[in-house]
Parts: sequence; structure tokens; C-alpha cells
Amino acid sequence: MSILLGAIGDDITGSTDLALMLGNNGMPAIQYIGVPPESTPDPDTPAAVVALKSRTAPPEEAVAQSVAACQWLVGKGARQIFFKYCSTFDSTEKGNIGPVAEALLDELGAAITIACPAFPANARTVYQGHLFVGDLLLCDSGMRHHPLTPMTDPNLVRFLNRQVRSADAVGLVPWPVVRLGSAAIRERLQQLSLQGRRFAVIDALCDRDLLDIGEACAELKLITGGSGVAMGLPANFRKAGLLSRTDGPAEIPSIQGAAAVLAGSCSAATRKQVHHMARTHPAFRIDPLELLDGRPVADRAVAWAIGAMRKGPILIFSTDDPEAVVRAQAHFGPERTGKIVENALAEIARRLHQAGVKKWIVAGGETSGAVVEALGIQSLRIGPEIEPGVPWTFSPAPEALCLAFKSGNFGTEGFFEKALGMLPGGA
Ligand code: ADP
Repeated sequence: MSILLGAIGDDITGSTDLALMLGNNGMPAIQYIGVPPESTPDPDTPAAVVALKSRTAPPEEAVAQSVAACQWLVGKGARQIFFKYCSTFDSTEKGNIGPVAEALLDELGAAITIACPAFPANARTVYQGHLFVGDLLLCDSGMRHHPLTPMTDPNLVRFLNRQVRSADAVGLVPWPVVRLGSAAIRERLQQLSLQGRRFAVIDALCDRDLLDIGEACAELKLITGGSGVAMGLPANFRKAGLLSRTDGPAEIPSIQGAAAVLAGSCSAATRKQVHHMARTHPAFRIDPLELLDGRPVADRAVAWAIGAMRKGPILIFSTDDPEAVVRAQAHFGPERTGKIVENALAEIARRLHQAGVKKWIVAGGETSGAVVEALGIQSLRIGPEIEPGVPWTFSPAPEALCLAFKSGNFGTEGFFEKALGMLPGGA
């Protein structure tokens, strides 16, 4: 079956978030891990999401992977491409949002696209081109301490302009225009395009704005943003008579096996969730300083887990507060430290999978990317929502697994326990 919408996510958690949003709005999506090989059967859903691990890759690599994903999706019939990134615009001065979006515009022969990270259900809004997390500007939120993409400039017009090749490529569709509805938004996009802008940062404060923006973008070949703006896209395909499915999310299959939570995010929400779960469940802390010292931390964690998981769900975490993260990064820098921690969590996942863990909750985008790679997962079906932006997912191959990938900053304090409680028969 030909797909209608093809999406490229710059990490795993963001991609499941987007697939959930599309499914919740009547457009089921299958998620692939990386660009699928030629032998992959055609998608049987109207949307497909290719999840990459490109957020913090070198820009040339992120561009090459994203263009390859775009070509694959267009080959499968995609009429519109969605480039999904984080609702907190996680990126650096070098990219990768700007370079990837620019390359996709070129690939698709498109004149202009929007940049719309707003996700009001998770308290991310954009006003006058400035990104807010709750009542704080992005630069005053916990995102300023992110280990890999510290966000210190909330002005998305200025920030995105720095990431792209051409000067003055980024314009703004301000909220007074957005509130007038889709026709006004469409007209402003046309004006910006005539002025030679290739990107329009677009204000959005509530779901109504996102629905209008989605409607205004029906004819754009490329849309970029967080999952929020995707809520308005299925309606465009329905209106065009192309989409009639109404099936809801897949049910959680009943799978025998142990349950483990792996947390590699140091974001504020994950820190709270880790503390909360550690109060009532066996928990093992990965110390990055020990890893950097070359100690056998993964061996110890696995030996501990094999004993502990017989009694119920376990938690393994490298999550720490900003001061400890800075200390850990002092020797090898953020990227290498991050990789060492990710590799350790991936190794632990691989070995615990062999030891019988079948139900996984992973916190952190980069961390989730490392874990899916270690588990050899190729595609995911999207199940019911746990909390906004995070569904249960199932991997049919190479072996049936239940997995939940949580973006670091998503979820309430009791998220892990709530997710485990949704599994058939408990965890
Ligand atoms: P988020 O979704 O919060 O952005 P990610 O998993 O994407 O989480 O990114 C967190 C990064 O921080 C990963 O590269 C991870 O390996 C790294 N990391 C995890 N724990 C620590 C720590 N204690 N010190 C330094 N870096 C860490």
C-alpha cells in the first residue's frame, strides 16, 4: 500500500511521539528504525516514520541519512514529508535542524517550510518566535543544562538563521496572524516565500493554533516541527478523500518476561521519575566516572539485575543532576562522555535481553537510539498512549518485545510505574 505522509524523526523518542500523534488523529503510522532495507515489505499504514539517530550526529551525516530517508519515503508514495525534531528545538549552532531542513527543501524542490516545535499539551509554546517551556523562556528552563544540546537562545528566528546556509532565510508568522486562521497563515507563508524566505518560524499557543497551522500547510511538500503540529495533518488527507481509516492504536500484547527501566536522560522530568521509582523498586546507579575509569560497570549492573529482576521490575540509571554531569564531562567533553554512557546502557540492554527482559522502558532520546540498536529492533507498532507524547510500542521482530521510549523531559513523576501498570497482568 502507498503511504500518504512520510516522516523523518531525528531520534527514537520523538519518532514514537509523532507516530502516536498521527495515530490519535486517525492516521496510523508504522515506525522504522533507520532507513529500511530494500527487502522490507511495503508499509500497511497510511503514514510511516523513519526514526534516525541524527540529532547530535555530525551535520553531513545527519543530512545524508535524512535525505536517504526522504527518498525512501517518497519511493513508497509519500505526498508530504514531515521532519520531526524536539519540541524544545534540541540542536546546536551547527545544526542539525537547519542543515537537514535545508537539504530536504532542496531534495523535494520546495520553496518554503515551517518550523513549528510548539506542543502545548506538554507546555511548549512559541510566541513572537520565542520558545517557552511552561512559563519559562527556553534559555531559563532545564534545557540550558542539557548534556549534548544546551539551549541558551530562545529566539528561534535568530537561532535557526545561524544554522542555515543563506542569510535572512528565516521569517516569522506571528500569533496575531495565526489566530486569524488557516487562510491568513497560508497567505503569510506565501508572502514570506516571495520575500525569499525558506523557513517560517510559526507561533502557536494552543491546539486550535496547531490545527489551523496544519490546515494551512496542506500543500507544503515539507513540514518541520514537533509532533504537535502533526495533529492537523490527517484532516487534510481526509478532506482530499485519501484517508478513511479509523482504527485505533494496537492493543498491548501479553508477553512473558521480565521488565526493566533504563534511564540515560539527565533532564529534569527524568530525574524526578528516577527518584520516584527508586523509592519502591530495586535500582542500580551507573556512575560515569567509574565508566570513564574503565571499571566493569556493565558487568556489575547485569549481575545485579539478573538477581533483582526475578522479583519484579528494576531500574538502571545514569541520570544525575547538572553539577554531576559537568563533573563527568570535565575529562572527555560532553559528546564522548555521552557516548560512553550510551554504550554502557546499550551493552546492559543487550545482555539483559539475553537474560529474559522483554518489557522495556527507556528514558532519553539518544539513550533510546543506542538501546534499539543494541536490541536489533527494525520496526515498531504503536500502542496506547501512556502520557502525552509517549506510547507503548511493540517490536514484532526479531522477537516480540514491549517497549516505551520516553523523551527525557516528558511525563509526570510516576510515569515509570504508570507505564508498567498498563502491561497486561502488570509487569
Ligand atoms: P534527553 O531525552 O533528556 O535529551 P538523551 O538520552 O537524548 O536524553 O541524552 C542524554 C545524554 O546524556 C546521553 O548522551 C547520555 O549518555 C548522557 N548522560 C547520561 N547520564 C550522564 C551523566 N551522568 N553524565 C554525563 N552524561 C550523561
